[in-house]
Amino acid sequence: MYKVVEIFDSIEGEGKRAGSPATFIRLAGCNLRCSYCDTLYALFGEKEECKFTEMTIGDILNRDIKKYVTLTGGEPLIADGIAELADELLIRGHEVNIETNGATDIMEFMRDLRIHDEDKLFFTIDYKLPTSGVEDKMLWSNFESLMPQDVVKFVVGSDEDFDKMLEVVERMKRIYDVMPRIFIGAVYGKYDLQALAERIVKEPILEEANLQLQLHKIIWDANKRGV
Ligand code: SF4
Repeated sequence: MYKVVEIFDSIEGEGKRAGSPATFIRLAGCNLRCSYCDTLYALFGEKEECKFTEMTIGDILNRDIKKYVTLTGGEPLIADGIAELADELLIRGHEVNIETNGATDIMEFMRDLRIHDEDKLFFTIDYKLPTSGVEDKMLWSNFESLMPQDVVKFVVGSDEDFDKMLEVVERMKRIYDVMPRIFIGAVYGKYDLQALAERIVKEPILEEANLQLQLHKIIWDANKRGV
Protein backbone atom coordinates (compact mmCIF):
# COMPACT_ATOMS: atom_id res chain seq x y z
CA MET A 1 0.00 0.00 0.00
CA TYR A 2 1.18 3.48 -0.85
CA LYS A 3 0.22 6.44 1.33
CA VAL A 4 -0.94 8.88 -1.33
CA VAL A 5 -1.61 12.48 -0.33
CA GLU A 6 -2.79 13.53 -3.77
CA ILE A 7 -2.68 12.69 -7.45
CA PHE A 8 -3.27 15.63 -9.73
CA ASP A 9 -2.53 17.00 -13.18
CA SER A 10 -0.75 20.31 -13.54
CA ILE A 11 2.04 22.11 -15.33
CA GLU A 12 5.50 21.04 -14.25
CA GLY A 13 6.55 24.14 -12.34
CA GLU A 14 10.30 23.57 -12.14
CA GLY A 15 13.24 21.83 -13.70
CA LYS A 16 13.90 20.64 -17.21
CA ARG A 17 10.25 19.80 -17.96
CA ALA A 18 9.01 23.18 -16.65
CA GLY A 19 5.91 24.22 -18.55
CA SER A 20 4.92 20.71 -19.63
CA PRO A 21 1.70 19.03 -18.48
CA ALA A 22 2.33 16.22 -16.02
CA THR A 23 0.62 14.02 -13.48
CA PHE A 24 1.95 14.42 -9.95
CA ILE A 25 1.81 11.59 -7.43
CA ARG A 26 2.49 12.99 -3.97
CA LEU A 27 3.41 10.43 -1.32
CA ALA A 28 3.24 11.05 2.42
CA GLY A 29 6.21 11.40 4.75
CA CYS A 30 9.62 13.02 4.69
CA ASN A 31 12.89 12.42 6.51
CA LEU A 32 13.76 16.15 6.51
CA ARG A 33 12.23 19.34 7.87
CA CYS A 34 13.38 22.22 5.71
CA SER A 35 12.87 25.73 7.06
CA TYR A 36 10.93 26.74 3.93
CA CYS A 37 8.92 23.57 3.36
CA ASP A 38 5.72 24.36 1.45
CA THR A 39 4.24 20.85 1.66
CA LEU A 40 3.98 20.41 5.44
CA TYR A 41 0.53 18.85 4.81
CA ALA A 42 2.36 15.86 3.31
CA LEU A 43 4.54 15.33 6.39
CA PHE A 44 3.73 13.37 9.52
CA GLY A 45 3.78 14.94 12.98
CA GLU A 46 3.10 18.51 11.86
CA LYS A 47 0.42 20.86 13.20
CA GLU A 48 -1.80 20.05 10.26
CA GLU A 49 -2.59 16.35 10.20
CA CYS A 50 -1.26 14.57 7.11
CA LYS A 51 -4.25 13.20 5.23
CA PHE A 52 -3.55 10.39 2.80
CA THR A 53 -5.32 7.55 1.05
CA GLU A 54 -3.89 4.03 1.09
CA MET A 55 -3.70 2.87 -2.51
CA THR A 56 -2.41 -0.29 -4.14
CA ILE A 57 -0.21 -0.08 -7.18
CA GLY A 58 -3.28 -1.08 -9.22
CA ASP A 59 -5.34 1.77 -7.73
CA ILE A 60 -2.65 4.25 -8.78
CA LEU A 61 -2.14 2.83 -12.25
CA ASN A 62 -5.89 2.79 -12.89
CA ARG A 63 -5.93 6.56 -12.63
CA ASP A 64 -5.69 8.62 -15.78
CA ILE A 65 -1.95 9.32 -15.83
CA LYS A 66 -0.22 11.59 -18.32
CA LYS A 67 2.89 10.67 -20.27
CA TYR A 68 4.99 12.77 -17.92
CA VAL A 69 4.74 11.67 -14.29
CA THR A 70 6.43 13.23 -11.28
CA LEU A 71 6.82 11.23 -8.09
CA THR A 72 7.02 13.71 -5.27
CA GLY A 73 6.29 14.19 -1.59
CA GLY A 74 7.36 14.57 1.08
CA GLU A 75 10.21 12.36 0.06
CA PRO A 76 9.05 9.68 -2.40
CA LEU A 77 12.15 7.48 -2.09
CA ILE A 78 11.35 6.56 1.52
CA ALA A 79 8.04 4.98 0.48
CA ASP A 80 7.97 1.17 0.52
CA GLY A 81 7.69 -0.21 -3.01
CA ILE A 82 8.69 3.03 -4.71
CA ALA A 83 10.95 1.24 -7.23
CA GLU A 84 8.11 -1.12 -8.14
CA LEU A 85 5.83 1.84 -8.78
CA ALA A 86 8.46 3.52 -10.96
CA ASP A 87 9.01 0.25 -12.86
CA GLU A 88 5.30 -0.15 -13.58
CA LEU A 89 5.02 3.43 -14.81
CA LEU A 90 8.04 2.93 -17.08
CA ILE A 91 6.63 -0.36 -18.44
CA ARG A 92 3.45 1.53 -19.36
CA GLY A 93 5.46 4.09 -21.33
CA HIS A 94 5.44 6.98 -18.89
CA GLU A 95 8.44 9.25 -18.38
CA VAL A 96 9.21 9.53 -14.69
CA ASN A 97 10.73 12.43 -12.78
CA ILE A 98 11.64 11.61 -9.20
CA GLU A 99 11.86 14.65 -6.95
CA THR A 100 14.16 13.72 -4.10
CA ASN A 101 15.65 15.70 -1.26
CA GLY A 102 19.35 14.81 -1.34
CA ALA A 103 19.21 13.05 2.03
CA THR A 104 17.89 9.72 0.73
CA ASP A 105 20.15 7.16 -0.94
CA ILE A 106 19.31 7.18 -4.64
CA MET A 107 21.53 4.16 -5.30
CA GLU A 108 19.40 2.03 -3.00
CA PHE A 109 16.42 2.92 -5.19
CA MET A 110 18.42 2.20 -8.37
CA ARG A 111 19.37 -1.23 -7.04
CA ASP A 112 15.69 -2.07 -6.53
CA LEU A 113 14.66 -0.73 -9.93
CA ARG A 114 14.30 -3.31 -12.73
CA ILE A 115 13.85 -0.98 -15.72
CA HIS A 116 16.91 1.16 -16.35
CA ASP A 117 16.03 3.59 -19.12
CA GLU A 118 17.94 6.83 -18.93
CA ASP A 119 15.66 8.42 -21.52
CA LYS A 120 12.58 7.76 -19.44
CA LEU A 121 13.62 8.25 -15.82
CA PHE A 122 15.55 11.01 -14.14
CA PHE A 123 16.06 12.48 -10.72
CA THR A 124 15.48 16.07 -9.74
CA ILE A 125 17.59 16.10 -6.61
CA ASP A 126 17.86 18.99 -4.17
CA TYR A 127 21.10 20.04 -2.64
CA LYS A 128 19.80 21.73 0.51
CA LEU A 129 21.75 24.91 1.20
CA PRO A 130 22.36 26.46 4.67
CA THR A 131 19.06 28.41 4.73
CA SER A 132 17.18 25.09 4.65
CA GLY A 133 18.60 24.19 8.07
CA VAL A 134 19.23 20.62 6.92
CA GLU A 135 22.39 20.86 4.85
CA ASP A 136 24.14 18.48 7.23
CA LYS A 137 21.74 15.73 6.08
CA MET A 138 22.92 15.82 2.45
CA LEU A 139 24.41 12.49 1.32
CA TRP A 140 27.38 13.42 -0.80
CA SER A 141 27.36 9.96 -2.41
CA ASN A 142 24.11 10.99 -4.14
CA PHE A 143 25.84 13.88 -5.83
CA GLU A 144 28.61 11.62 -7.11
CA SER A 145 26.17 9.14 -8.66
CA LEU A 146 24.17 11.23 -11.09
CA MET A 147 23.70 10.92 -14.84
CA PRO A 148 23.66 13.71 -17.44
CA GLN A 149 19.85 13.52 -17.62
CA ASP A 150 19.49 14.22 -13.90
CA VAL A 151 18.86 17.66 -12.43
CA VAL A 152 20.48 19.11 -9.32
CA LYS A 153 18.28 21.79 -7.85
CA PHE A 154 19.50 24.57 -5.57
CA VAL A 155 17.10 26.87 -3.77
CA VAL A 156 18.95 30.00 -2.70
CA GLY A 157 17.76 31.97 0.30
CA SER A 158 20.83 34.07 1.12
CA ASP A 159 24.21 35.17 -0.21
CA GLU A 160 25.77 32.47 1.97
CA ASP A 161 23.60 29.92 0.16
CA PHE A 162 24.80 31.21 -3.21
CA ASP A 163 28.45 30.92 -2.18
CA LYS A 164 27.87 27.40 -0.88
CA MET A 165 26.18 26.44 -4.14
CA LEU A 166 29.29 27.56 -6.05
CA GLU A 167 31.42 25.30 -3.85
CA VAL A 168 29.13 22.34 -4.50
CA VAL A 169 29.08 22.92 -8.27
CA GLU A 170 32.87 23.23 -8.31
CA ARG A 171 33.18 19.97 -6.39
CA MET A 172 30.84 18.23 -8.82
CA LYS A 173 32.74 19.59 -11.82
CA ARG A 174 35.83 17.82 -10.52
CA ILE A 175 33.92 14.51 -10.57
CA TYR A 176 31.95 14.55 -13.82
CA ASP A 177 33.02 14.59 -17.45
CA VAL A 178 29.41 15.39 -18.32
CA MET A 179 27.63 17.24 -15.57
CA PRO A 180 24.04 16.70 -14.56
CA ARG A 181 21.86 19.73 -15.26
CA ILE A 182 21.96 22.55 -12.70
CA PHE A 183 18.79 24.50 -11.89
CA ILE A 184 18.82 27.41 -9.47
CA GLY A 185 15.80 29.00 -7.85
CA ALA A 186 15.12 31.35 -4.97
CA VAL A 187 13.39 30.58 -1.68
CA TYR A 188 9.94 31.88 -2.56
CA GLY A 189 9.60 35.52 -1.49
CA LYS A 190 12.93 35.47 0.39
CA TYR A 191 15.64 36.11 -2.18
CA ASP A 192 15.42 38.65 -4.96
CA LEU A 193 15.20 37.00 -8.38
CA GLN A 194 16.90 39.86 -10.16
CA ALA A 195 19.85 39.66 -7.75
CA LEU A 196 19.98 35.91 -8.26
CA ALA A 197 19.93 36.24 -12.06
CA GLU A 198 22.70 38.85 -11.96
CA ARG A 199 24.89 36.71 -9.73
CA ILE A 200 24.39 33.66 -11.96
CA VAL A 201 25.40 35.63 -15.06
CA LYS A 202 28.65 36.75 -13.38
CA GLU A 203 29.81 33.23 -12.52
CA PRO A 204 31.61 31.39 -15.35
CA ILE A 205 31.11 28.11 -13.49
CA LEU A 206 27.35 28.55 -13.90
CA GLU A 207 27.38 29.18 -17.65
CA GLU A 208 25.38 26.01 -18.31
CA ALA A 209 23.04 26.45 -15.34
CA ASN A 210 19.39 27.48 -15.56
CA LEU A 211 17.58 30.01 -13.42
CA GLN A 212 14.24 28.49 -12.55
CA LEU A 213 11.00 30.09 -11.49
CA GLN A 214 8.30 28.15 -9.69
CA LEU A 215 5.80 28.49 -12.50
CA HIS A 216 2.93 26.97 -10.54
CA LYS A 217 3.32 29.73 -7.91
CA ILE A 218 3.18 32.40 -10.59
CA ILE A 219 0.22 30.91 -12.46
CA TRP A 220 -1.88 30.01 -9.42
CA ASP A 221 -2.08 31.29 -5.86
CA ALA A 222 1.29 30.56 -4.24
CA ASN A 223 -0.36 28.58 -1.43
CA LYS A 224 -2.79 26.63 -3.60
CA ARG A 225 -2.51 22.85 -3.39
CA GLY A 226 -2.90 20.37 -6.20
CA VAL A 227 -1.24 22.52 -8.84
S1 SF4 B 1 12.53 17.73 1.67
FE1 SF4 B 1 10.80 18.72 0.67
S2 SF4 B 1 8.98 17.82 1.63
FE2 SF4 B 1 10.74 17.33 2.95
S3 SF4 B 1 10.76 18.97 4.48
FE3 SF4 B 1 12.15 19.58 2.81
S4 SF4 B 1 10.88 20.83 1.42
FE4 SF4 B 1 9.48 19.68 2.78
